[in-house]
Amino acid sequence: MGCCDKLMTMAKKPINIAKGVTAVAVGKRYEFTDTRIRICHKCDKVKWIGRQIFCSICKCWIPAKARVEDEKCPEGRWSKEHLGTVGDSDHGREQNKSNTSINEVF
Ligand code: SF4
Repeated sequence: MGCCDKLMTMAKKPINIAKGVTAVAVGKRYEFTDTRIRICHKCDKVKWIGRQIFCSICKCWIPAKARVEDEKCPEGRWSKEHLGTVGDSDHGREQNKSNTSINEVF
């Protein structure tokens, strides 16, 4: 990654945080969200603070990070095949909200 790429990534971070936190606040989730969170649940880099889940590498709050399509796992554990099909107009269909263990962290 060149310095321009790093600057673009740094510039996008606050926008992605705002997008993710807003998505959590309004209860929006995409078809890739729960899969990402499940991967984080099993990851040795995860950090729990009470009932909240964070990544110990990037320090992100996982429920928000997992809702932003272009966010990436710093360890590459959110691979393309985990993301499913993402639609054009709404960044993917909303996810089935039936998994209660995942719901507990939101
Ligand atoms: S984002 Fe990646 S490294 Fe961080 S907790 Fe999730 S799976 Fe682990």
